[in-house]
Amino acid sequence: MSAFRTETVLDVRHWTDTLFSFRTTRDPAFRFENGQFAMIGLEIDGKPLVRAYSMASANYEEDLEFFSIKVPDGPLTSRLQHLAVGDKVLVGNKPTGTLLTENLLPGKVLYMLSTGTGLAPFLSLIKDPTVYEKFDRVVLAHGCRYASELAYGDLLRQDLKEHPLVGEQVQEQFSYYPTVTREDHDPRGRISDLMRQGKLFKDLRLSPLHPDSDRLMLCGSPAMLDEMTDWVEGLGFAMGNNSGPGSYVIEKAFVER
Ligand SMILES: Cc1cc2nc3c(=O)[nH]c(=O)nc-3n(C[C@H](O)[C@H](O)[C@H](O)COP(=O)(O)OP(=O)(O)OC[C@H]3O[C@@H](n4cnc5c(N)ncnc54)[C@H](O)[C@@H]3O)c2cc1C
Repeated sequence: MSAFRTETVLDVRHWTDTLFSFRTTRDPAFRFENGQFAMIGLEIDGKPLVRAYSMASANYEEDLEFFSIKVPDGPLTSRLQHLAVGDKVLVGNKPTGTLLTENLLPGKVLYMLSTGTGLAPFLSLIKDPTVYEKFDRVVLAHGCRYASELAYGDLLRQDLKEHPLVGEQVQEQFSYYPTVTREDHDPRGRISDLMRQGKLFKDLRLSPLHPDSDRLMLCGSPAMLDEMTDWVEGLGFAMGNNSGPGSYVIEKAFVER
């Protein structure tokens, strides 16, 4: 059997010059856990050109959704950004990843912290009812340079509250915390700084981070992950992964080449 399925593009949305998302058909036999990623891409000259992408749709949805960067000279995304309805996309058969609720110990507050396209796996997880069953509060922070890059804002601010499966849980338990670093915005600043300064907790009426009660899922740039890992390890948080649960888990949103 081929390592890839071929899916058809159903919809493309360009958020900015550097960000877009697209939906494809989904082979019902393609199973994944919310929060996982797969290798996806295009067939170029008869060969697959693929990269890791988080599924931005939930695992019970009929279609697949992806949220993508456009790297001007990137081997894949210089092409992928021109996708149109009806085009074919390769989707790898082996989804994987560590951003799974089962990799976290029980806790009260779940913080999903993302920068840029690191938002993608959380778009899947926030539609998962078990997330709200396992945690009393669910916070999704998204950090970008400019407000225009805060993609999916309407979904996260409003539409998710009307979601047929998780809407009621979202109304009671979910908080969206968008932040911007390079222009006026409230809040303004890096997620790590807003947490260390206590602003994020004050704004959301939550207690400062504590490893007994709080759990973290991080998906962002390698620099953001290094910085946050240093900080939370110092607070007594322990990393979980597919070999055993911990008080936080991480996934790189991309790799520096
Ligand atoms: C586990 C994992 C999950 C990923 N999920 C996603 C996803 O859901 N959406 C997505 O757009 N990308 C995601 N990526 C990155 C993705 O795999 C590719 O790197 C990206 O699509 C660019 O591919 P490329 O061939 O055009 O350029 P590449 O040669 O892969 O990258 C060129 C350079 O562009 C920069 N870059 C790459 N991706 C990003 C990004 N997402 N944000 C900011 N800078 C970037 C890096 O500096 C990199 O060195 C993920 C990566 C990993 C490791």
